[in-house]
Amino acid sequence: MNQESSRRCFLGSSIAASCGMTQLGAMSGQDSAQTAGTLDIHLHLFGSGDSGSGCRLSKNILEGQLFQLLVGVLRIRERAKTIDEGYVLALAEHLENSGLSKGVILAQDAVYDRSGKPDWEKTPLYIPNDYLFRVVARFPRTMIPCISINPQRADAINELERCVEKGARVLKIHPPIQGVDLSEKKHIPFFRRCADLKVVVMVHTGHEHSAPIFSAALAHPRKLTLALETGCTVVACHCGTGWTTDKMDMLPGFLAMVRQYDNMWGDTAVLGSAGRVRDMSRLLADSVATDRLLHGSDFPFPAAPLAFAGSLGTLEAARLQAMGNFIQQDFALKEALGIGRASAERAYRLLCEDESQR
Ligand SMILES: [Zn+2]
Repeated sequence: MNQESSRRCFLGSSIAASCGMTQLGAMSGQDSAQTAGTLDIHLHLFGSGDSGSGCRLSKNILEGQLFQLLVGVLRIRERAKTIDEGYVLALAEHLENSGLSKGVILAQDAVYDRSGKPDWEKTPLYIPNDYLFRVVARFPRTMIPCISINPQRADAINELERCVEKGARVLKIHPPIQGVDLSEKKHIPFFRRCADLKVVVMVHTGHEHSAPIFSAALAHPRKLTLALETGCTVVACHCGTGWTTDKMDMLPGFLAMVRQYDNMWGDTAVLGSAGRVRDMSRLLADSVATDRLLHGSDFPFPAAPLAFAGSLGTLEAARLQAMGNFIQQDFALKEALGIGRASAERAYRLLCEDESQR
């Protein structure tokens, strides 16, 4: 999860704009999607568990200003009796009308103790794999499930095999929130099984500002070396980026590693936010890295096109800022920055078409 507090400044204008779909834009997007598939690889499933979904959100997140703001902007309470269901309907509506062919929907595993049991006290958010499968099954045309398995859990490989049997082909790990060090050799059997089963491994890299973390160093792209050398296809979510105020600069690590490993990719989730304008421009300046980018929005957290007015011009930035569909808006911003369609088609090819690329 990545929610940028700096986005709040721009959320206001999004709220002012209609949250209905921009029909013309959505239709033109769908037209072009017929010629080549496009994929948003980073869409969060969230829930409070109020429908019996098994989801958990800490009190701090649930009662936090940003979550409450998103509940309002996405009209979650108006859509259904529960937050769980209202969120699903908002996610589905934004994705269906985004103009993109498909989206990858992310679960979120828990923190585990040394014996491999869940540590709920230390887990700020949890979205179960089975709930993910139930939600995605309702929207088979547009949604692809991304399970989450913390390799620290005692039954990690069993859970992986169980989920693959149910159709999973991509999984997500969030080391700083889940408190797992992916460079530890004890994880080799898990990564080997991921490689054997051709499960794409998505890993959060770079700085996290929203949820409590164990250590920022767990999010360094170098931590992915073991998974890469075990043969996994690895997606470094956020490409190791951060804000200018963050102490450790992890982006150079990502830029070096895409040169070193053919099986490494980076997603563009949260890179349309105000705090990451500097790192986004550093990334765009590197042509080797841009050829490895996979489009991702980080829904429900909206992009902040006005923050890119310096490179896009104020008028274009304002036009994008007024878009009410968060998934469509993020894609349009990245398209305006020159990487949108190519990275969305690349993501589609990686997960939906060419098995040989994995
Ligand atoms: Zn995220």
